[in-house]
Amino acid sequence: MTAPLLLMTFDDRAVDTWFAHRGVLEDAGAHVTFFVSWADELTDEETDQLLVLQQHGHTVASHGLRHRDALADVADHGLRAYLEREIVPSVQALQERGLGHRDFAYPLGRHDDAVDDELLEHFSWLRATSPRHADARASRVLIDLDAGLRVLPSRGVDVGRRGVAHPDDRQTLLSLLDEAARSGLSVCLYAHDILEWDQGLARGTNFITPAQLRQVLQAATERGLSAVGTGVLPD
Ligand SMILES: [Zn+2]
Repeated sequence: MTAPLLLMTFDDRAVDTWFAHRGVLEDAGAHVTFFVSWADELTDEETDQLLVLQQHGHTVASHGLRHRDALADVADHGLRAYLEREIVPSVQALQERGLGHRDFAYPLGRHDDAVDDELLEHFSWLRATSPRHADARASRVLIDLDAGLRVLPSRGVDVGRRGVAHPDDRQTLLSLLDEAARSGLSVCLYAHDILEWDQGLARGTNFITPAQLRQVLQAATERGLSAVGTGVLPD
């Protein structure tokens, strides 16, 4: 049995704040995954920052070229067009910059079996999103990495979204980590920007605070979960 893992992931393109808070990850001995959208528009500085994060053992991977909703885009333009304008150029832009590109996180968590099948020709692992249940359904995101699945469910851990605080569900999260430790199953979580509370609310982005991130990583460590990037999962 694979030892339980914490797959902590960050989406979109908050490269400057990810980079600024890399010490939080380092202090916890944690590696994470950064799923980057708009990779073709990364500045040289952002590219360098991502390269440093990657050199420090974090995974950088694709979140689509333009953050398109896969289902809507396939419905409107077809699967081939979706691949040609959303997937291939995203992989290419990352590759050209020396960044990782093997894994993918669905923008808005939107996907279905047909898109999964197609994208698994391009990627090793796909990350989806799951509802942030506060009851027993919360444990549906637990992952058996030995079961052969390639589409990872994940739970959101942002503390604020579009200028509004998210209801505090830290206890649910801790219970989930307890259950992972008990069962030997793994957990995937996702956040976006990393910002202090006031700043995050003022900017109106989806964000987790450095303090909350620290708590999540510490809680996982205390329970024996290793925090790793998706890059360490098998091809
Ligand atoms: Zn996103």
